[in-house]
Amino acid sequence: MDEILYEGKSKVLLRGPSDDVLLVRYKDTATAFDGKKKEELAGKGRLNAAISNLIYDYLAQHDVQTHLVEVLDETSALVKQAEIVMVEVIVRNVAAGSFSRKYGVEEGSALQHPTIEFSVKSDELGDPMINGSQITAIGLATQDELTDMIAQAKRINELLCVLFARAEIRLVDFKLEFGRFDGHIILCDEISPDSCRLWDMQTGEKLDKDRFRRDLGNVLDGYEEVLRRLSDVA
Ligand code: UDP
Repeated sequence: MDEILYEGKSKVLLRGPSDDVLLVRYKDTATAFDGKKKEELAGKGRLNAAISNLIYDYLAQHDVQTHLVEVLDETSALVKQAEIVMVEVIVRNVAAGSFSRKYGVEEGSALQHPTIEFSVKSDELGDPMINGSQITAIGLATQDELTDMIAQAKRINELLCVLFARAEIRLVDFKLEFGRFDGHIILCDEISPDSCRLWDMQTGEKLDKDRFRRDLGNVLDGYEEVLRRLSDVA
């Protein structure tokens, strides 16, 4: 079970116990800006694995189909081997990051309704933003798959907003990835402070990867806090 099939920036995929199951292992490497900023943060893998597994359990309890099969240990889990759709789905509830820069909307402004946008999953191309008609035109996904991903992203957002609100955390935005498995589109990859913006509801303190991107310090204290609060309410 130790053959590496693929090594990404924050996770390694190893051969699993059967053809349609992979072993995913979370690494301690933190990266940002398409891998240009990189650092080892001891314990990050354990924290992201725990947070993502907890969120995936919660989503599964609410009938969201996910790739998670079984948690093995603090940094490893078995996941269904899906064919990843090469599109990142970004959901936003509050303006921040690239959205604020691009559209001149002050960071922290609540949006009148959640937005969904897409980017091509490609570090080489710098994850360029892409629209639905471009996605289907170049064959990254079919129209049915796109419609399904949008519906799932909206539902996942509603469920996560409830979960994080219970933990006194504002879910600002997050990125999802989906895959094809057994004729269905299922949720894949992690949902963690690496892929979400999470702000303390009372103080606005950032508890996510922006601590790393923006050199705010004590990166993992934020992740620990997210895990502690989610564990209390999940
Ligand atoms: N995101 C991600 N991976 C990416 C791009 C974005 O996980 O390759 C997440 C990011 O953590 C944030 C949300 O998607 O929670 C929106 O990111 P944004 O477009 O604002 O990008 P950034 O400000 O990081 O350039």
